[in-house]
Order: sequence, then C-alpha cells, then structure tokens
Amino acid sequence: MPKKVLFIMSDTGGGHRAAAEAIRDAMIERYGADNVQGELLDVYRVMRYPGNRMPDFYPWVINNAQAAWALAYKLTDNPKRARFASHLTYTLNRGRLRQMVTQHPADVVCCVHSLLGQPSMSAYQAHGQRPPWVTVVTDLVTTPYFWYDRRVDRCLVPTQAAYDRALAAGMTREQLRITGLPVHPNFNRRLTDKATARRELGWNPDIPTVLMVAGGDGMGPMMETAEAILAQRLGLQIVIICGRNKALKERIEAAGYPNVIPYGFVTNMPQFMAASDVLVTKAGPATISEACIAGLPLILSSRIPGQEDGNVQLVVENDAGAYAPSPALVAETLVTWLGEGMDALAARAERARTVARPDAVWDIAEEVWQAAHRQPVSMTRTTPM
Ligand code: UDP
Repeated sequence: MPKKVLFIMSDTGGGHRAAAEAIRDAMIERYGADNVQGELLDVYRVMRYPGNRMPDFYPWVINNAQAAWALAYKLTDNPKRARFASHLTYTLNRGRLRQMVTQHPADVVCCVHSLLGQPSMSAYQAHGQRPPWVTVVTDLVTTPYFWYDRRVDRCLVPTQAAYDRALAAGMTREQLRITGLPVHPNFNRRLTDKATARRELGWNPDIPTVLMVAGGDGMGPMMETAEAILAQRLGLQIVIICGRNKALKERIEAAGYPNVIPYGFVTNMPQFMAASDVLVTKAGPATISEACIAGLPLILSSRIPGQEDGNVQLVVENDAGAYAPSPALVAETLVTWLGEGMDALAARAERARTVARPDAVWDIAEEVWQAAHRQPVSMTRTTPM
C-alpha cells in the first residue's frame, strides 16, 4: 500500500503549491511512484465564505490593499494573537474542517501554509487521533507566527531566523530542524546551459536577457517596470512571466513592445531561469530560493510588507541581489549592473549560489517519509496550540 501524504496548502500565490509539488516529487523519485501517493488540498476551498474565495481575492488584496495586509501582519506578529486568530478561523469553519479530516484520510500530514495549519490541526484534534504531522515553513526570515503550532510532531524551517522565531513561539528544539526551503529537484538538475535553454525557448541567443516574474499571480507594476527598462535602451530582451494574471498578459501583448516576450503561467521555470541573465521579481520566498539555485542575480522590485521584509534582507545582506522598489530603481540598477560587464554579472550569480540550499527538498522528503511510517498520534496528549 502506498503511503498517503496529505499536503495542506492553498493557491494563494504560487509558493505553497510549488513547495508541496517539490516535496511530493522528491518523495516519488526517492521512494517510488508505487509507494507514495500525494494529495494537494487547498484548505481555503473547504471553508465557508469568505475563506473559500481567498485564492481568488489574494492577488487583489496584495495589489490594492497592501496596507491592510501589512497591518494584519503587524497585529498578529505575536504568538498569542496568531493563535487567537487561528482559533477564530477554526471556530468559524469547524464543521467543514472536521468533515475534511474524514474525507481525506492520510498516513502523514505535511503542512506548507502558515495560516491553514493551526485550524486544520484543531480539526484533527477533535477526532481523537490524527496522522503524524510535519510542518514545512516556506517563509524565509520574518516568518508569520501562524506557522508555529506546538501540537505538531516536526517543524522544518529554512533559516536560523525562522528557527529562533519558532523557539520564541514556544516550540521545542526536538520539534525543530533547519533544512532550507524546499525547491523542486528540477531546479538543480534540469538546468541546461544558457545557449541551449534560449534556443529551446526561441529567444534571441545574443543579447542580455532580463526575466521578470511576480509570484504565481503576476502582481505589482510589471508593465511600468518593463517600460522603465525599455526607456534606457540597453539592447536587451525582456521576458515577462505573468503567471495566472491573464489581463496583464493581454495588456502586454496589446502594447506590442519591441523585444518583450510575455508568457502566462509557465510550468518550466527551471528552463526560464537557465536562459536568463538577471531576474526582476517580487520578494517571494520560493522564487528567491529557486533563483539562488539557478545562479541568477536578483533585483527585488517589490515585497509584501511584513512577511517578505526578511526575504529582502536575506538577498541584500548576502549580496545575492539588490532591492529596487520602483520601476525607475529597477531600470537604474540594470543600467549599473550591465555597465559593469558580463563578468561582474557572473560574479553576482556566484554570490547568489552561496545562498542556495538545493538539498533541502531531499532532507524534507526523508522527514515526511519517516513520519509516514509512524503510528497515528492519540489525542490524550494535551499540548496547547
Ligand atoms: N511560478 C511558476 N510559474 C509561473 C509563475 C510562478 O511555476 O508562471 C512559481 C515560481 O517558480 C515559484 C512560485 O510560483 O515557485 C511563486 O512563489 P513565491 O513564493 O515566489 O511567490 P508567491 O506567488 O507565493 O507570492
């Protein structure tokens, strides 16, 4: 019988799905497709309104109500308040979450979403017995306290800063381990050389290439940034990944910019990164981690205030890239970087590689696999959330 792994995630942004798929595929590769059965469950979709619309609202909120999102982060940047908010989410969705538990039996639960872990765990607790539980924290530094549920069996974190926050939230050292953030094995393995990747993608092989991406939902001022870069006449090509933002792709196509190639949601990001010289991106944790493995210098053009602040810090302090939070600053940074020449750019790429944790996904896959072989946990234990 295959081990059934239930991934608690949501399509709010692209990072949660990317993490779950990375762990699932690493497990399948290492332990065999006959032995691992992974299910990705968007727990927001299980909830009642408005929770069930969260994946639809999320890009709008980040684009139009960032101040409110930042305030929510600030107000809950405290373990007790994060627990209270999680308990409220559970209380409002109790019936549906409990039903979810019976409808999705599993040998192990792997949670890759900060806000969904504690409410889901509460639903499991109500059943008297639950599968072993591994939380994989997919924020890098300024991790929301929602991640840290003292009831879980294992909590795998990407950095020392995330580890320290877990301790501050009352988790024990026995529960915790620093593994790095899970990135799909393909980012390490399927990276062809630049010329091959460009030929396969049909891009111009001879001019510098800037890749623009803004999370799974194509958020932020992508068109304005492309226009600011084009205005500098740097003789480069710009590849813009719009993700699930169809309207953005249509607007870019209609604008008909020279040397600008728009894409919708792509499923071969390793190839796109291999083919590029510089990445301009929102400070999403998954994209940053992938780019570091691919050796792609980063210009961070925006960040979600609060939860992504630490990501900026990580990139800048390690000299893996620069923070340029406006279209004009992105264009200026590119002028400087390209003016320094391709050797200097290659040195930046090397520095990005020093931040990479390509083996993290294998460590995490092994942890989840081992947990899947443990006995279900009985709820006689009274660890508080
Ligand atoms: N991504 C993708 N195809 C796209 C756009 C994005 O596979 O067209 C992936 C990207 O490689 C990364 C994730 O979506 O794994 C985005 O995660 P990140 O944490 O950077 O940002 P989020 O979207 O979660 O805010």
